[in-house]
Amino acid sequence: MSNVNDIIIIGAGQSGGWAAKTLRDSGFTGSVLMIGNESHLPYERPPLSKQVLLGELAPGACQLWSQERLLEWGIKVELGNHVELVDRNSGQVVCRDGKSFHFDQLLLATGSRPRRLICEGAELEGVHYLRTIEDCLAMRAKLGPASRLVVVGGGWIGLEVASGLRARGAHATVLEASNQLCGRSLPPSLSKYFLEQHLRRGVDVRLGARLKRFVGNGKIQGVELDDGAILPATVVLVGIGAVPNDDLARSCGLDVGNGIVVDEHCRTADPRIFACGDVADQPLGQARVRFESWKNAQDQGVAAAKAMLGVEPVTRELPWFWSDQFDINFQLVGIVPPGAQQYRKVNAGDNGFIDFFVQEGRLVAAAAINSPRELREAKRAIQKALPFSEDGLLLIQGEGDAPERQEKER
Ligand code: NAP
Repeated sequence: MSNVNDIIIIGAGQSGGWAAKTLRDSGFTGSVLMIGNESHLPYERPPLSKQVLLGELAPGACQLWSQERLLEWGIKVELGNHVELVDRNSGQVVCRDGKSFHFDQLLLATGSRPRRLICEGAELEGVHYLRTIEDCLAMRAKLGPASRLVVVGGGWIGLEVASGLRARGAHATVLEASNQLCGRSLPPSLSKYFLEQHLRRGVDVRLGARLKRFVGNGKIQGVELDDGAILPATVVLVGIGAVPNDDLARSCGLDVGNGIVVDEHCRTADPRIFACGDVADQPLGQARVRFESWKNAQDQGVAAAKAMLGVEPVTRELPWFWSDQFDINFQLVGIVPPGAQQYRKVNAGDNGFIDFFVQEGRLVAAAAINSPRELREAKRAIQKALPFSEDGLLLIQGEGDAPERQEKER
């Protein structure tokens, strides 16, 4: 550690930003340079599919810290630039504009990007993806009270956007290729819950939908399905998952699986190089996972910075994420393992419930609808490995299954 003077963080998002701050908080006095290919200081993305898209929040409100604060901390930021090469022998990164920078340690916090849909009409005006502030503003500019939104992909982005626009009067259709919404992260009973909530509020959700092509004349006009039906559309959002930005790691010879392979302290096989956030393929028990969540991005940014400095290892936080749709606040803590028993406790007033996922008598995960206090209690019980009592709870029979497809965790 004593011979580390220069730390470079590639990626100026949530994970990279928290890593940079943690380096300073932990007493690192050498140079810290963050290089980001967006033109913004580190910001949080969750509001982009909610308040920012709906025009209720300015994008600037998502920024983590001001320029002044970063200057005060002595964190240099190179924005709007793209690292093209990592030279592990010389300890240099080379950017697209020819600038090069030296590192003693390097953190790859390069995030993920939306999976692209390849089909006829995919380039039409009005077909959007949602990842960056620019993506959000471009889509927002196309929205109005008479919008007809078609979302391709019944995942978190799609459901949040469909609910937000539907609640403001727009016509919204969600096309999901599989037979279940959010199938990678929800057990069937909860997928079914979201399906019912969307249908009840007038979102046209179609499971098993097969998209054929986008129709339009320069601009999107409709979405044609395999059976020949054409759904009129003024705006389309494609939310069919994200792929890790691991090309740099791959090209400099680091181990890449489903993202950049790291150990529990975010270390790659090269002792000078670390990775964190959406791009990191990390161990979880016997398995490996790549979490794409706000919480993981922050936690791993902090953990990676501490590991780089060799300071006390960070105890692993439980995976957690939330989603807001209509008047529903959903939160999931822990990982739902295959074969877990699922018990439900319905709130007084029936406006929410919490599901407990139990394995070998212990609570391992909990999912809450409009029950944040209950979720916090469940989180404590998981962390403390308290014995679980199912007294008075409803067994959701046969549905304590893990999400059907777990290759991508949140
Ligand atoms: P996602 O949650 O993985 O959902 C994508 C969905 O699209 C999946 O159900 C997927 O099914 C389906 N799909 C894939 N190809 C399709 C096709 N050709 N036609 C129709 N459906 C198709 O991903 P996302 O919604 O795009 O979100 C991107 C990332 O942002 C994710 O990591 C997500 O977790 C994150 N995000 C999180 C939040 C939150 O935590 N509240 C909110 C917004 C976004 P298969 O599973 O069968 O591929």
